[in-house]
Amino acid sequence: MGLREYRRKRDFDVTEEPRGGGKARRIFVVQLHHASHRHYDFRLELGGVLKSWAIPKGPSLDPSVKRLAVEVEDHPVAYADFEGDIAEGNYGAGHVDVFDSGHWEPLGAPREALRKGELKFLLHGDILRGSWVLVRTRGYGSKPSWLLIKHRDEFVADLDADAFVDPATDRPISRTKRRAVWKNLARSQAPATPRKGAAAKVSKAPSRIRHSGAR
Ligand code: MN
Repeated sequence: MGLREYRRKRDFDVTEEPRGGGKARRIFVVQLHHASHRHYDFRLELGGVLKSWAIPKGPSLDPSVKRLAVEVEDHPVAYADFEGDIAEGNYGAGHVDVFDSGHWEPLGAPREALRKGELKFLLHGDILRGSWVLVRTRGYGSKPSWLLIKHRDEFVADLDADAFVDPATDRPISRTKRRAVWKNLARSQAPATPRKGAAAKVSKAPSRIRHSGAR
């Protein structure tokens, strides 16, 4: 029986209530990892593990930017909550912070897409949203390399992951600030209908976001 009755009563294209069930809410996480080489770890839950890529420069919200994403070993799902220090002498020693998290939806059959080397998906995070693609390019030693690219939609911006990191500490902005990111961006990217002051707002927006990240 499960959730059949609950779902029968609701139209999930309209309501924002959870549909329930594991498959409908696969988690994703991006962690900033200060290992010997600073990088971002991008992880998508699939089949009970986190498929994982190391992205040296981090995701970009700019659709003209392709970011190298080196495939790494699957991680346990519980790793999505991990923040803290990996002690010296251990694999990946250094500090880890969650940069963004939420859930993701594959567009199409994800396992087949991964095998074919082109995975299209939606992200529902605080910072990373909308449509993305991972495209496999070639092997990099034993580790296949991919490119992470933002698709054009309403969740693009001329901003890198680093724009959401406090430059003084090199730590991601707080969860509270992350949650306000798109409120601020949406306001600043409102279509430039001829309203007084609209143009000035648009041009100021990215620096405002960068600035708020700097506090
Ligand atoms: Mn890492």
